Amino acid sequence: MPHPIEHHTGARRGLPARFASLVLTDDFRQRRRVAMVLMTVAMYAVCSAILGYGVVFGIFDPARAAVLGLLFALTAIVFFVLIRGGYNLRFAEPSLAFPQAAVAQTLVAISYAVTGPVHAANLVFLAMVMCFGMFDMSTRNVRLLLVYTVCLMGAVMAWCAHTDPATYPARLEVIYFAMTASALPAIGSLSVQLSNMRGRLRSQKKELEAALEHIRKAATHDELTGLPNRRHALALMAEHISREARGGPMVHVALIDLDHFKNVNDTFGHRVGDEALVCFARQARAHLRGDDIVARWGGEEFLLVLPETPHGDPNIGIERLRGALAATRISEAAPHLRIAFSSGITRHVKGEGIDDMIERADRALYTAKTSGRNRTVALHPAPRPPGA
Ligand code: GH3
Ligand code: MG
Ligand code: MG
Repeated sequence: MPHPIEHHTGARRGLPARFASLVLTDDFRQRRRVAMVLMTVAMYAVCSAILGYGVVFGIFDPARAAVLGLLFALTAIVFFVLIRGGYNLRFAEPSLAFPQAAVAQTLVAISYAVTGPVHAANLVFLAMVMCFGMFDMSTRNVRLLLVYTVCLMGAVMAWCAHTDPATYPARLEVIYFAMTASALPAIGSLSVQLSNMRGRLRSQKKELEAALEHIRKAATHDELTGLPNRRHALALMAEHISREARGGPMVHVALIDLDHFKNVNDTFGHRVGDEALVCFARQARAHLRGDDIVARWGGEEFLLVLPETPHGDPNIGIERLRGALAATRISEAAPHLRIAFSSGITRHVKGEGIDDMIERADRALYTAKTSGRNRTVALHPAPRPPGA
């Protein structure tokens, strides 16, 4: 299904709405992703400010802090451009949640090694990144991120304890590692539950949409032939008539009744009778024009709505269908059986109700039956006297 896109008319949009669509785009799903990436950009900005503060007060090494700040800026810019530019849509997970989170955890690990005396504070950020990932990551990626983060932090903590034991005493690093290795999986398991819940919701939504489509089809179409049913045919006819009233093409309707159909059932059985109805529907769809409506009016009766075209006597399609049916095998069970039909056709008169028009078509059909069947009789309304 296409992504829902919010369309706005430029004239009615205020300045904030126009600014939002400029920054966030008009695509509903992209909007959410851009908003998320903007939030991470803000987080990187805050972290850079903290680094600056630490450098000013001599807490952090300026060169190392500068490299880390540069990495923050680069990461923020790259992901913002990727997502705002729509390049993320080429990936299976267009939120880019996994690569964003993996890069962020790597930066937290670097920050852990760079921020010396306050390094333990970085653990908060490890948890925060895991939480960010909760909303868009697949279960597999959550687990992957978890394993990656715990291994990476284990390696960084061991390396720091080895190279700078004064600032990173091993006995404390063990505690920090234990905290990391227990808290992150707990967050990870919440993420997995959330992801499963999202999956269930998505499949329930799909099932609901399919059920609604099924109900809609069942309410408007005939189950055996798949043609519009009587109720739907009346609605479609009303649409054509109102189009005609607004200057659209003139509408003709034809009622069709299969000839001696009871004999088909009596001779070959109800199943072959059903096959004949399906065969009629298929041939009618194939031999009438795309704009013509073929509906099952009931039993072995069908209704055609035929909007007039510049090159078209509406009878032509009906006779084409008659010829095709005379040559079409209906059922393997009755190889020589053919079906014929009688039809009554009429034209709609402006201002006239649907019932009157149908009643006239029915009279024409009756005449076709009584005058020998397998034919079409046209019964057009008498022209209105002037001034009527
Ligand atoms: P006529 O030429 O005068 O129309 O004769 P007919 O036999 O076609 O007309 P009649 O109204 O006597 O019979 C219509 C038959 O259509 C009777 C009914 O059992 C059959 N029929 C109606 N709906 C269905 C259906 O869905 N499947 C099958 N197999 N037969 C159906
Ligand atoms: Mg009948
Ligand atoms: Mg009949």
